[in-house]
Amino acid sequence: MTDQGKAPPFSETLPTADLDWSAGDAVRSAAFGDVYFSDRGGLEETQHVFLAGNDLSARFAALDEGGIFTIAETGFGTGLNILAAWQAWDDRGHGKGNLHVFSVEGFPLTAADFGAAQDRVGRCWPMLAPYAERLAVAYPALTPGVHTIYLAPDVTLTLALGEAGTMLAEADFRADAWFLDGFSPALNEDMWRDDIFAAIGRLSAPGTTAATFTVAGTVRRRLQANGFEIEKRPGFGRKREMLTAIRPDTEDLQDDKDRAGRRDEPAPWFSLRQLHRPAIEEPVHIAGAGIAGASLAWTLRRAGRKVAIHDPAGMAAGASGNPAGLIMPRLDLGDTPARHFYRQAYLHTVRLIEQLEKETGTDIFASRGGLMLALSPEDTDRHRALAASGILPAGWLELVDSGRARQIAATDMTLPDDALHLYLPQAGTIRPPRFVAALLRDVDIAGEPAPETAGVIIEAKGSSAIVPGDGHLAASLGQIDRLDMPPPACAITFGNYIAPLGGGVVTGATYDKAPAGYGKLPAPEPDASRSRRNIDAASMVMPAIASAPLTDARAAWRCVTADRHPVAGPLPDLAEFLADYDELRTGMKGPYPPATWRKGAFTLTGLGSRGLVTAPLCAAMISAMITNAPMPVSPAVVAMLSAARFVVRDLKRNAG
Ligand code: SAM
Repeated sequence: MTDQGKAPPFSETLPTADLDWSAGDAVRSAAFGDVYFSDRGGLEETQHVFLAGNDLSARFAALDEGGIFTIAETGFGTGLNILAAWQAWDDRGHGKGNLHVFSVEGFPLTAADFGAAQDRVGRCWPMLAPYAERLAVAYPALTPGVHTIYLAPDVTLTLALGEAGTMLAEADFRADAWFLDGFSPALNEDMWRDDIFAAIGRLSAPGTTAATFTVAGTVRRRLQANGFEIEKRPGFGRKREMLTAIRPDTEDLQDDKDRAGRRDEPAPWFSLRQLHRPAIEEPVHIAGAGIAGASLAWTLRRAGRKVAIHDPAGMAAGASGNPAGLIMPRLDLGDTPARHFYRQAYLHTVRLIEQLEKETGTDIFASRGGLMLALSPEDTDRHRALAASGILPAGWLELVDSGRARQIAATDMTLPDDALHLYLPQAGTIRPPRFVAALLRDVDIAGEPAPETAGVIIEAKGSSAIVPGDGHLAASLGQIDRLDMPPPACAITFGNYIAPLGGGVVTGATYDKAPAGYGKLPAPEPDASRSRRNIDAASMVMPAIASAPLTDARAAWRCVTADRHPVAGPLPDLAEFLADYDELRTGMKGPYPPATWRKGAFTLTGLGSRGLVTAPLCAAMISAMITNAPMPVSPAVVAMLSAARFVVRDLKRNAG
């Protein structure tokens, strides 16, 4: 038998930039033969071409309270343009509004090169030094996909790592100003392709501007073909001319969206085209003050929205009130939305917790590091394949044998001799109530439910009434047990988990399905038989657990979905869905109209046992939907998480 004909296992790589530091006065790309910036005049060129070319200072100054200004860029490179825009933002003379930056980059600088470039920016232009330092710290781990980076309370960067055309085709937001900066068209035609300009057109509206250093004919024609009026202006330094462009005010937005660049909608029931985005002044009511509600409150406040959070039980009263919880990723093989979502969620949450720890001066992590054990030959094969697939960036995942695993955990474990385990240095055990408290600092929690008249409400708690149809949300009881014994040096997972906490160990969790749906279930009590099960499972791996004294136990309901993915996004208007998509029952292929959503009704629920990891990214997605900011996930992930999936599944199940 050979492997011939078998599809190669999926693996991801993101090419990094090939820099040439040898030129004394510029940061150059060896691969493209062009410069990122010149030490002499680089900042002034950025200010002239991109900032003045988009009239940014005046437009920043004119922004209203709660308004969002969105800059989109092709070619993030060293981030100099963004640093300059950020500084101009801070200089605008008032504290109103929020700045969003979306930038796409296909060949990111390695972390070391990026750090060196930020140092150089700080040396050349000292007023940018504090911005460059912050950006260097915030620079993400280099995995393909969208990274949401909270640079300042009023500045968010969405860095889309991947080929420009692909990333822009998946993007969904409305740009106010474009920085077109993809190296010279003569050296890099790829960044100035038709499909890229079509996407730029789709993501623009009347009043959107663009600026670029090049006046190449193809660039001018493609801007015009996508609805921009262009103007040549004097270029910077020795360059005679540059280009600015504006979308005139007269166009009809809907026609605009139907231009050639519009994304095809193979599954219109997930489309957000008809989503009603609430007005800036409408407060967003959030029902539930656990990890879901807290993540939503935090991200919406960062986006400049007013929030009111409601929970009769107070903060972190459910599963988020557990003394310990794991930050460990779900890792999927294969090029699926699940792989991308859970990976990005993990990277996002680790970064967010580290940021909150700095901002609040509290330790949210109780300990760092996590081991995923392989207890069977199949586990070992899977770990090998995951490591080879490049699922996490270098330094985030290590394949280790049983001897090394024992060394890392600094404890005796019963492990197969030839097993290969995964070690994740950035994973760890957190104290969930501290995470929730850090997200909710300065937020009052109301005991009363959200008013009936609330215009915008996000259901961020478990309730089977949220998703239309039967049996989509279920309750599952999770019990954890606390034992007094010397803890391992890191968290250990094997289906169940063992987590170090203080001077002891927490182990769990059970997964006991409630007999009925997620109704009004009584608060659960821990019980001895569940403790027994947890301890038995853990002592198979760590024998010392069997004789450790049990000091405490806690049980809580979690809300789970049948497909194990969270439910996040707007809620479908059931009557419209049933009318619009009734023919799915007969297997009709369509065409079907885009989805109708209930006005102002959103949810974040069904987080199962992974809420600590997934809630922040889900919340960022919902916040982007509400504010029309750059989406932090792809359309395939929006569909995977959509509440509409259940309605459509029910209709299709009845087909024939
Ligand atoms: N704006 C950057 C700055 O402030 O440092 C400089 C950008 S540099 C002139 C152009 C960038 O476009 C490079 O970082 C390059 O890797 C990126 N790029 C070129 N072709 C690309 C493509 N097809 N997709 C995505 N990025 C691309």
